[in-house]
Amino acid sequence: GPGVPALALEAVHAAYGPYRALFGVSLAVPPGGGVALIGPNGAGKSTVARVASGLVVPSAGRVLLDGEDVTGRPAHEIARRGLVHVPEGRAVFSSLSVEENLVLSFAARVGRRGVGAALERAYAAFPVLAERRRQEAGTLSGGQQRVLSLAKVLAVAPRCLVVDELSLGLAPVMVDAVYEGLAAARAAGTAVLVVEQHVERALGVVDDAVVLAQGRVTWRGPADQAQAAVGLALTGGGGD
Ligand code: ATP
Repeated sequence: GPGVPALALEAVHAAYGPYRALFGVSLAVPPGGGVALIGPNGAGKSTVARVASGLVVPSAGRVLLDGEDVTGRPAHEIARRGLVHVPEGRAVFSSLSVEENLVLSFAARVGRRGVGAALERAYAAFPVLAERRRQEAGTLSGGQQRVLSLAKVLAVAPRCLVVDELSLGLAPVMVDAVYEGLAAARAAGTAVLVVEQHVERALGVVDDAVVLAQGRVTWRGPADQAQAAVGLALTGGGGD
């Protein structure tokens, strides 16, 4: 119902073996809403993304999807409930063509009958993929592969999307393409949690920001106040 977040983390602690990465992190993404998770290297941002998608099970605290406790449920079940995680790096089958990658992903999510329409939406949103539909994915540039990994999930309008460092190492035109994709997903009602080092771009596509440092939330508030609030600690000296 109203007021129930699409995704919520409640006082989440997480560790890798003896190494403790998160200390009581709470955040919520409203239905169709957008939250940017920002912070320095090693702050625990990717760990938050992995907790949300079930790849890392919290040692304490809870994960809720649409108000339902999914803590400890396997990642495939969380995915089936509509949360899609686009991890850092490239998640494509490199020996398959662009179109084969899209078809495989769409068939698994929307069934064979939905594939044609999903392909049309993906090519309309990302013309670079239409131009290269027959090309082996492994021969695309890193940026084009990132666009492909996003297109694989966006055409099926997930309930909630968690994207990790989508713009890392991308040419500016590809950064524009992935952020246009995120904006389109939000317009279609997908809730998004954006993990980014590229703070300005992330803040432009969300409503709220959460700042993480050393596994703890150090600031939260409206996205348009985030840069001023955290100031040079985040944006200074990065040479972005
Ligand atoms: P980055 O932007 O560098 O990816 P981050 O904010 O996403 O940073 P995480 O990747 O979540 O941070 O890492 C948080 C801490 O957990 C870091 O100290 C990191 O070294 C550690 N860590 C991450 N993944 C693992 C792992 N698989 N095994 C052990 N430690 C890990």
